[in-house]
Amino acid sequence: MSTRAIPGLLQEIRRYGRFDVSACLNCGSCTIVCNLSTDAASFPRRPIRRALLGLKDSLRASLEPWLCHDCGDCSITCPRQAEPRESMMTLRRYLVAQYDVTGLASKILASTAGEIIALSVVGLFVFALVLFYHLVYKEIPMSVSEFVTTPLGLEHMFPTITYFTMVVFLIPLVLLTLNILRMHRWTMRSMESVKIPFRLYLSEARSLLLHAVSHQNIRKCLQEIHRRRWTKHWLLGLAVSLMLVIKFFFLDWFQTDEIYPLYHPQRWLGYLVAAILIYVPVDILIGRIKKQEEIYKFSEPSDVILPVMFLLVAVSGLAVHVFRYLEFALTAHLLYAVHLAIAVPLVLIELPFGKWSHVVYRPMALYFQAVKERALKEVEAQVERELPERAVAIGA
Ligand code: SF4
Ligand code: SF4
Repeated sequence: MSTRAIPGLLQEIRRYGRFDVSACLNCGSCTIVCNLSTDAASFPRRPIRRALLGLKDSLRASLEPWLCHDCGDCSITCPRQAEPRESMMTLRRYLVAQYDVTGLASKILASTAGEIIALSVVGLFVFALVLFYHLVYKEIPMSVSEFVTTPLGLEHMFPTITYFTMVVFLIPLVLLTLNILRMHRWTMRSMESVKIPFRLYLSEARSLLLHAVSHQNIRKCLQEIHRRRWTKHWLLGLAVSLMLVIKFFFLDWFQTDEIYPLYHPQRWLGYLVAAILIYVPVDILIGRIKKQEEIYKFSEPSDVILPVMFLLVAVSGLAVHVFRYLEFALTAHLLYAVHLAIAVPLVLIELPFGKWSHVVYRPMALYFQAVKERALKEVEAQVERELPERAVAIGA
């Protein structure tokens, strides 16, 4: 790994958000107070220093920005208001752009206009696809005027919409897999003097699952509000997972002609998902408006765009549901097109290129870190075992 300093690195990083540590006197209080920082993975000071020194390769090989859970304890403690939490957030955004094999993430994360344009283009494309399907592909092709005036159910879209949903989720899955391979190459390459056995990747796979599901590290942060934050994070994860299960396996629940009775579990599962997808984003947005908590003190536009997208997906989905039950078939049908035009950009843009990508990169980083630490421990243990033998050999 090159330790060459890259002169323009700091300017490049600042394209992705706040990174102003000019007030920092290097006292180290931020690292001391951080409950997630360890000897093996020390932050926030270390990755911030790498950025300041222009050590691009070293920064890209670093997992630390992902091990930070954005709690803000360091910023509260900092005697110079250098806002290390914000710098860590900016580093994560920079790293997402670095991992991205398409180069699109840098356009989206470094520019609000880029993000809005990308979301709008995909939304309009989806809307045009829905129109195209009805005008050309549907068994009985319609004209535009028929499309906007004919009360159709949603079931006529089967099975096309199921295949479409699979493709929509497959695209970010493939992109993120390629990005993770790049992330792995850079971050595990820093272990070039230690060969990591494949069995360690298998035995530590449980840490990947554990962190992806539990987000338990948030609970290690100092302040009480992080328990509440953990609950919201967990609820949002649950709602999104349920939504994915429903979309992949039970999409026809929502599009059959049958009106389910009030006691049917399908209805309550849907209501639970919608309630969480409304409650958590609204709570986040209120927090960002009030700015009372450290984690909401500074907001980048993408910090607002993501919860707004979740909220719009939930509200538009609920609206489709309500109008179907009220038997306003035309309104429900048109609203479904609007719902797709919001939900698809959320998955196609925010997940692989935007703020939502942290849901994949953070557990992967925790996993890679666990593998690294295990590999180092094994090497240390081996050296300890071999030391007496070597001493004897030298003595001899
Ligand atoms: S606590 Fe503040 S001043 Fe001290 S090292 Fe961290 S960022 Fe710099
Ligand atoms: S934001 Fe929290 S987790 Fe991140 S470096 Fe600061 S104290 Fe540590």
